Amino acid sequence: MATCIICHLGIIEGVDSSHNCPNGHLAHTDCLKEWLLHSSNCPLCREPYPNEVLDEFKDFIKLREDEKLATLDSELKKEELKKMEVIASKMTFLKFIESINILINEQEYDYALSRLELHEDSNLSNKKEQDILFLKGKINYMRGRFDLAINHLFKLVKEKYNYPDGFLYLGKAYEALGLDDKAKWAYERIN
Ligand SMILES: [Zn+2]
Ligand SMILES: [Zn+2]
Repeated sequence: MATCIICHLGIIEGVDSSHNCPNGHLAHTDCLKEWLLHSSNCPLCREPYPNEVLDEFKDFIKLREDEKLATLDSELKKEELKKMEVIASKMTFLKFIESINILINEQEYDYALSRLELHEDSNLSNKKEQDILFLKGKINYMRGRFDLAINHLFKLVKEKYNYPDGFLYLGKAYEALGLDDKAKWAYERIN
């Protein structure tokens, strides 16, 4: 009994449908179908299958390619959507920070702080939460609550050493309390 060059199982004459390559290598029709999705050459001798064989599987191959494209397309769309969401959330955050800065300029410190309180600062490795912590510190400095400013800003620079503005306002807050040595220590770390 002949065996299929793809699955190596027997090909039962008169029962199993099969195809030859030009060199007579036999494969089950169903095995060949899948193989032709990858290559139009015989898996054994690399001889191209004749067009009449390929034509027979044309519709099946087209269908599979369409399916593959559709899957790819929907994956790309999902990816795109995810990117958009990230951008949207960044934009929202920037707008939020902008609105806080406007409140600071208008010296609406308590209102600015109450808006910042809506954001948690539990995960300080997150850049957004570091920025929020910085603003809390800065606003407290500006409204004369130097102790609270130091609390927030010290927590910030402990987490993120490279935060020049954090050290700047920390220095200012120490200075305002007459803690000149500590102020000097903070200023030295601005750069
Ligand atoms: Zn087979
Ligand atoms: Zn062959």
